[in-house]
Amino acid sequence: MHSYPDVKLFINGEWRDAIGGETIDVSDPATEEVIGKIAHARKADLDLALEAAEKGFKIWRDTSPFDRSKLMRKAADLLRQRVDQIAYYMTREQGKPLAQSKMEVMGAADTIDWFAEEARRTYGQIIPARMSGVSQMAIKLPVGPVAAFTPWNFPLNQVVRKLSAALATGCSIIVKAPEETPASPAELIRAFIDAGVPAGVVNLVYGIPAEISEYLIPHPVIRKISFTGSTPIGKHLAALAGKHMKRATMELGGHAPVMIFDDADLEKAIEVTAMSKFRNAGQVCVAPTRFLVQDGIADKFTAGFVKAAQAIKVGNGLEDGVTMGPLANERRIPAMEALIQDAITHGGELKTGGHRIGNKGHFFEPTVLSEVPTSAKIMNDEPFGPIAIINRFSHYDDAIAEANRLPFGLASYAFTGSVKTAHALSRQVEAGMLTINHNGLALPEVPFGGIKDSGYGTEGGSEATEAYLETRFVSQMS
Ligand code: NAD
Repeated sequence: MHSYPDVKLFINGEWRDAIGGETIDVSDPATEEVIGKIAHARKADLDLALEAAEKGFKIWRDTSPFDRSKLMRKAADLLRQRVDQIAYYMTREQGKPLAQSKMEVMGAADTIDWFAEEARRTYGQIIPARMSGVSQMAIKLPVGPVAAFTPWNFPLNQVVRKLSAALATGCSIIVKAPEETPASPAELIRAFIDAGVPAGVVNLVYGIPAEISEYLIPHPVIRKISFTGSTPIGKHLAALAGKHMKRATMELGGHAPVMIFDDADLEKAIEVTAMSKFRNAGQVCVAPTRFLVQDGIADKFTAGFVKAAQAIKVGNGLEDGVTMGPLANERRIPAMEALIQDAITHGGELKTGGHRIGNKGHFFEPTVLSEVPTSAKIMNDEPFGPIAIINRFSHYDDAIAEANRLPFGLASYAFTGSVKTAHALSRQVEAGMLTINHNGLALPEVPFGGIKDSGYGTEGGSEATEAYLETRFVSQMS
């Protein structure tokens, strides 16, 4: 089988150690073993990356969209060819079951293909002029070198959306990939290099996230920021970007409501939501979290969901049959325990789970709480782990009020047999994404993003490339 690699920085077309020689250890969340190390970038390394990105931008913006698109498709094919190896790295560093890692790699390849197609459609406008002999054009040009900051929950997918949009539009990029899960995103970068992306266009660094963001965001070379992570950090980085007049896309935390009405297909609701809740051990910004179930089916739904949670096989993601891996890092365990304890103290009922499994590896039981009051912390803070909260409601208006109570507005879910209810929800739920009677979120061709405190901008669909383009107006008299 494959072994886990040490990971270097990729700057100006070269894999290199950090100038200061520093490294950071990488550990396997299922075994807690140190499995490798990454090069730790400091300012001198970042200066090289900035210089490279500036140079790379000049080359890439002048590469035709047709050629960019061809090269991106080649990178997507290379990823598909390398799926087994990359998925193995991902499971070792992140913990998710191998089948989920493979899906993530194949999904990343699809995302690249989608953006490769979009690369050829960065259309501007011809605007009718008031005088004859005048041509008025709105043209779209790449915004410039991008700094992208991505988290550890989807090591590849968080990078690929930013990287593909940047490359499609002609931007160069410095990716600050997650230190906990570095090898699989490094393989993504390698696929682009092997496909022929010129030196300087794509650069990869690891280090101390705050140190890197504080240096890159204000830097004059960087013209756009894209960040995925928690709302407090996103607000901090958005403020920094604002201070330096940098464009920003912010994909932040969520606390997704799931409204299940009496007229819903109960079996389907249980199957879809249990799968979505415990995928990636719940460490998903769009994971269903606040289940609001109408009185008539609440008991049945809770019983069925608890059974589904108990059927999940937790273990090392490399083992056959495992459907949920460990939490990605050690600090998530006390975070889960504190939220559960607080919910119980506030009167919530623990239906199943609630505890760490074993004493090696960051394994945690799939957990279901019910009747948790809104005063409990977990009803307000994103759990980002395998915990579902099932509460009940009587009337449509109560469900909407609870769904919209929090400042978050990322994903939302609903199950109903009524077209009228579905239509009303699509207008009234304050969320960037709503999926009704199935989980239809996060395909490359559909919008992916939040409103309210969940951020701004979309990382999917045709609007995603807009964030990397600026509009320039040209008026020309013949
Ligand atoms: P954290 O807030 O310390 O870090 C979250 C992510 O932001 C990490 O990838 C980290 O490297 C990055 N980060 C932190 N400070 C930064 C800074 N100053 N500049 C640039 N990047 C920075 O928390 P954590 O313990 O790693 O994760 C816990 C919380 O983070 C979760 O509760 C969840 O809300 C959020 N999170 C969200 C996503 C998502 O997909 N939206 C992914 C991972 C984590």
